[in-house]
Amino acid sequence: RQLLDGHLAHALEKDEFTLHYQPQFNLDTGKLVGMEALLRWSNPVLGPIAPDRFIYLAEESGLILKIGEWVLRTACSQVRLWQEQGFTGLRMAVNVSGVQFRDVHFAQNVARILDECGLEPSCLEIELTESCIMDNPDRVRRILLQLKEMGVHLAVDDFGTGYSSLSYLKGFPFNRVKIDRAFVRDVDTDPDDAVITQTIIAMAHTLGMEVLAEGAETEAHIRLLREYGCDEVQGFHCGRPLPDAAFTELLRQQLDPSISPV
Ligand code: C2E
Ligand code: MG
Ligand code: MG
Repeated sequence: RQLLDGHLAHALEKDEFTLHYQPQFNLDTGKLVGMEALLRWSNPVLGPIAPDRFIYLAEESGLILKIGEWVLRTACSQVRLWQEQGFTGLRMAVNVSGVQFRDVHFAQNVARILDECGLEPSCLEIELTESCIMDNPDRVRRILLQLKEMGVHLAVDDFGTGYSSLSYLKGFPFNRVKIDRAFVRDVDTDPDDAVITQTIIAMAHTLGMEVLAEGAETEAHIRLLREYGCDEVQGFHCGRPLPDAAFTELLRQQLDPSISPV
């Protein structure tokens, strides 16, 4: 842990972070509609380290504030670059930690980054988990309303594994619910997971939100999710997280409408 912390403290200045991008597809049209930015850390001594192993350390030390800002700026400039290359209408999803929401100026920081990158707010989607809300529901709600007002999209990540609170879904201005991959994984074999998935979809739709299912790994997952009326899908079956150059290649291929993994 000390070793990780020590290296993590210098990772930003040593340029050890990159972003990978995982495609998101619309289940009706089969079109690539957006991507999620996923942080990658590779250290010369430790090698590649998964986000689940270092994000919480960065949260504890407060480093996540600087890292999170780097992620936002890098993701926003990347989607702007893709726009300049002719790949328009794409939405970039960025994961944000609860610690970043402790800063009452978070929405202003996002506005500044969007402005610096010359990106319309509607091209950005911020993903947060329910535990991030629990931290301080009133403050988080105020910040989310500011972001919503700016035109930024908001998604609740990993839905179903945390509090799955209906009052949070109702009282917060989310555009999208992301169903956790724990349910999607067994949607074709476990009747309980199938019912839970259908219920989350129906509930979100009733509340006027769209639904994206995470972790779709097979043709059967896609078929059922489409049958249940899920709007969008993300997962290894549709595309793994890719470095920017490989993702640009994927965007080029998607220009041919007959090619779609969904
Ligand atoms: P998440 O936001 O739920 O991201 C989805 C994770 O599921 C990613 O893992 C992705 O690679 C993985 N995944 C996608 N499709 C499939 C699939 O079909 N099967 C399986 N088994 N896994 C799939 P990753 O990249 O290791 O990220 C893990 C978590 O780390 C993320 O979960 C997110 O909570 C956090 N994270 C990643 N990047 C950032 C970041 O920039 N900031 C913050 N605060 N957290 C981040
Ligand atoms: Mg996410
Ligand atoms: Mg998730």
